[in-house]
Amino acid sequence: MIWYPYEQMKTMKKPIKVIDAKGVYLYTQDTKLIDSVSSWWSVMFGYKNKELNQAIKDQVDKFSHIMLGGLTHEPVEKLSNKLKEYLPGDLDYPFFSDSGSVAVEVALKMALQYYINQGRTEKRMVMSLTNSYHGDTFKTMEVGDDEDYHFILKAYGKSPYVVHVDTQIPALEEAFKKYGEKLNSFIVEPLLQGAGGMKMYDISFLKRARELCDQYDVVLIFDEVATGFGKTGNRFVSDLVLPDILVLGKALTAGYMGHAVTVANKKIYYGFYDDDPSHALMHGPTFMANPLACCVALKAIEIFERDKYMDKVKHLEEVAKEEMKGFCDDRIKEVRIMGDVVCIEVKDAKTLDGYQDFAYKKGVFARPFLNCLYSMPPMIIKDDELKKILKTMKEWFEK
Ligand SMILES: *Cc1c(COP(=O)(O)O)cnc(C)c1O
Repeated sequence: MIWYPYEQMKTMKKPIKVIDAKGVYLYTQDTKLIDSVSSWWSVMFGYKNKELNQAIKDQVDKFSHIMLGGLTHEPVEKLSNKLKEYLPGDLDYPFFSDSGSVAVEVALKMALQYYINQGRTEKRMVMSLTNSYHGDTFKTMEVGDDEDYHFILKAYGKSPYVVHVDTQIPALEEAFKKYGEKLNSFIVEPLLQGAGGMKMYDISFLKRARELCDQYDVVLIFDEVATGFGKTGNRFVSDLVLPDILVLGKALTAGYMGHAVTVANKKIYYGFYDDDPSHALMHGPTFMANPLACCVALKAIEIFERDKYMDKVKHLEEVAKEEMKGFCDDRIKEVRIMGDVVCIEVKDAKTLDGYQDFAYKKGVFARPFLNCLYSMPPMIIKDDELKKILKTMKEWFEK
């Protein structure tokens, strides 16, 4: 028996079996479906992309994996150089790992040890946003604010080392006043809170956060596992406000395989760099910097730049805005659009019961969650395919 994610196995619906996938389409035995969620927001250049496939094939004939402990290889060197040139500011020190959750753990570990290395043991607290999601491992669950994980609170009580803040500047200022001296880091999903309900907020909040982090000596971490690579209509939100640590995952490998990276700036890196071995970063996932993952990530960045995907995202946003213009219904709380993302938030989650089957019959794979009916398709999607997804979402309310 396969244990499926986020499911009550006793009552779960039979999953849809995919036998092939190409472009934006998933193929089952008897139908094809547009993947409106790009396999958890990762498959940005579609399935069976020729160039990405070839990048993996070329490397697999050399070696598919060697560890990074005491060894190194060309794919990781090339990807690191590329990231150095590609990412803003002095985000030049990448640490690779095998999933977004682990990469967030690494970011939190870096921030904590950065101060411990200086003997500043009072700086132990992490601040994150209300409704935040940063992964499924223990510390990321604790830092996150996801009701699904509140059994942790029941089991262990609330952590004295984590506080949450709303995405409002006055609340932020208040929290820094109260906790600033004890904070080691402030971690956010910038501009778009994905798994917390596709919540969107203003850049002015992040600009203020940057100032306050500087003022109170707090490490600013951007978890761009979901938002990176154009999803918000910005290449990275880090292009607008520079964090001390940036975490990338999901689309990093264009959804081809699990890989992620925690990128530190110079200040953080040099907080570890000295003659004391106990000041080293003690972390090393077995499959970090997997050569196949590095090769596919490199190719994905090349495609993203070469084919001007930022222009495509802006275009998709325009199409979505046009398509959703004037659409409303009593059951809807808000329609939100940002970059590649369209979210219809309903007042009552029950409104969305049955939507997945409805969409399936129309040739769209969808996976609503909480109060959110949303689309975040592969960026290769054509206008008529995007319109089909949005039309299906609208028809659900018109039926
Ligand atoms: C998906 C996600 C993660 C976790 O990544 P995994 O690869 O699933 O472990 C962390 N942070 C954010 C913002 C995410 O969307």
